[in-house]
Amino acid sequence: MKEKIERIREINKCLIKRYGIPPRPEELPAPVDMLIATILSQNTNDNNSFKAYKNLRSRFSSYDEIITAKQSILEKTILSAGLTQQKASAIKNFLKTIHSEKGKITLDYIAGMGNEKAIEELIRFKGVGIKTASCVLLFALGRNVCPVDTHVNRITNRLGLVKSSAPDKTYFLLNDGFPRRIAHQFHTNLIKLGREICKPSRPSCAVCPLKKLCIFEEKNFEFNNKTVRKDFMLLDNVG
Ligand code: SF4
Repeated sequence: MKEKIERIREINKCLIKRYGIPPRPEELPAPVDMLIATILSQNTNDNNSFKAYKNLRSRFSSYDEIITAKQSILEKTILSAGLTQQKASAIKNFLKTIHSEKGKITLDYIAGMGNEKAIEELIRFKGVGIKTASCVLLFALGRNVCPVDTHVNRITNRLGLVKSSAPDKTYFLLNDGFPRRIAHQFHTNLIKLGREICKPSRPSCAVCPLKKLCIFEEKNFEFNNKTVRKDFMLLDNVG
């Protein structure tokens, strides 16, 4: 455990040298906004899901309005995010359920829960998994948890921080004893690395800031000129 914590700290330092400390908004978004933005972000890129989120917020004057809106209208509004039927059903189901339970649409009460309990509370909604729930904790509640998407799963395995093929399992292994205060920077910079350098196939190990710390046996040192920068991070721009 001690070794893992030290390695995470060291990796984080190298990532900060390359990418800096990612900025955070002065005011964190409401958990409900973050949950909906994260549902929209599933299986698509940040630009498409951000467009869908902005459309949804301008098309409906309140979340209450979505509960009674036709599913087809909601699907059309979030078209750019893809998987519209699935995402519209998840959003409607969440809003309906929370409204009937609390008499209003809010998730503010999860701020009083510990991480484990808050995740349990969120994953009971259909279409909300560990990754979505942990994004709400990190980006809306400012908790020190590192959500595991496909990039974080791939890279933490290559680095040897965890050994797991399932992102949900990786989440629990990685976050057990995660070093304090660095989850947001670690998570965000790992995603940047995954988009630019540590890609699923033919990672650009020659230019990787982590190459000395990485135990991946299939490192690729051939020049890969398809390295591109993609800086826009959806979940830091929700609000
Ligand atoms: S050295 Fe290669 S495999 Fe390891 S993290 Fe960097 S890009 Fe990924």
